[in-house]
Amino acid sequence: MSVSPETGNLLFEDGTVEHYDRLLIATGSEPIVPPVMRQAGAMGFHVMDDYITLSGQLTETKRVVLVGAGLVAMELAASLANKVHQVTVVAPRERVLRNYFDIEGSERIIDLFTASGVSVKLRWGEAVKAERGSETTVLRFSQGNEIEADLVLACLGVEPRIAFVRGSGIAINRGVVVDRRMGTNVPDIFAAGDVAEAFDFLSGESGVNPILPSAAAQGKVAGDNMADKASSYEGSLSMNAFNFFDHLAFSIGKVAASEGDEILGAKRNGSMARLVFTGDVLTGASFLDADVEAGVIQYLIRNKVGIGKHREKLLEAPGEVGYWLMNEAEKSRTMSKEE
Ligand SMILES: Cc1cc2nc3c(=O)[nH]c(=O)nc-3n(C[C@H](O)[C@H](O)[C@H](O)COP(=O)(O)OP(=O)(O)OC[C@H]3O[C@@H](n4cnc5c(N)ncnc54)[C@H](O)[C@@H]3O)c2cc1C
Repeated sequence: MSVSPETGNLLFEDGTVEHYDRLLIATGSEPIVPPVMRQAGAMGFHVMDDYITLSGQLTETKRVVLVGAGLVAMELAASLANKVHQVTVVAPRERVLRNYFDIEGSERIIDLFTASGVSVKLRWGEAVKAERGSETTVLRFSQGNEIEADLVLACLGVEPRIAFVRGSGIAINRGVVVDRRMGTNVPDIFAAGDVAEAFDFLSGESGVNPILPSAAAQGKVAGDNMADKASSYEGSLSMNAFNFFDHLAFSIGKVAASEGDEILGAKRNGSMARLVFTGDVLTGASFLDADVEAGVIQYLIRNKVGIGKHREKLLEAPGEVGYWLMNEAEKSRTMSKEE
């Protein structure tokens, strides 16, 4: 498929031509599987067909190696733990879920995975060599380690599916570059979801944020503008909830603090909470087995609610205090509208 903005046509591989007045590019992303991983016979895990292929292979598979330690790797590890003899997660760096948790959170999560039989290898670097035998594969990593596997899965993130846009005149960087209307540099062509490079809520910089809530919000803004209803995207906010072995982890916003940010952390009875403040407002939070509503924390961040002297209390009881702060903010918004 290719796009021809000059003629307003989409050209399909079978020769079909489709004319558009307005076009939305929403082709999503594809998993990153580097050549060495392909050599290892590694599969990505992205769509239903991958699930079907993987399920079909599990009966004879004893050792599964997941390369990468993001959300897809950890979710897969949790669900494979009881299905195959040995599951190993190989993390290139010093922690798992690095986009969502700090070192301490990562360590706690690793402990819980280890207790459930998943082996987690840290700081192995990148896969640099694969030796594929008839039954098994030996993978070598840049830090000198190696591992033998019956099945290798590449869980190294995704990249926007933009190949068909190249050369069309539509601006691309990592993804299709869009403005706050989700419009591209070409009139009447919009983009949304994993394929789009949109503004980040906290930094204001543009980047890809391949998660469902961002895709849905961007799709709505693009749709509004395509139907001549002015609408502006308020920006992506990294967030994820993650269930594993009867535990619940949740992370939103900043993980790494910027200069001048304040971080508060607490641990109690196996639960963890970590809050990042920029000035008076919450800009990041992560929790493990905590009594907290993700939507409430998102509200506090998105609405830049001043937390003031309630920081410690929010840390102690994020569910209750978060809800109270949200209610107070809503009350004052309603009152100021009525005045
Ligand atoms: C294993 C996995 C787990 C995930 N878990 C979570 C999660 O827990 N929480 C979360 O927020 N996000 C999660 N995500 C991310 C989430 O699925 C994506 O952010 C979301 O689906 C993006 O939506 P989209 O519409 O941009 O792309 P997609 O949902 O990928 O849709 C793109 C569509 O475009 C079609 N397409 C592509 N190219 C063409 C073409 N040339 N012609 C015609 N059609 C085409 C594709 O077939 C597909 O139907 C997960 C993703 C994966 C892979």
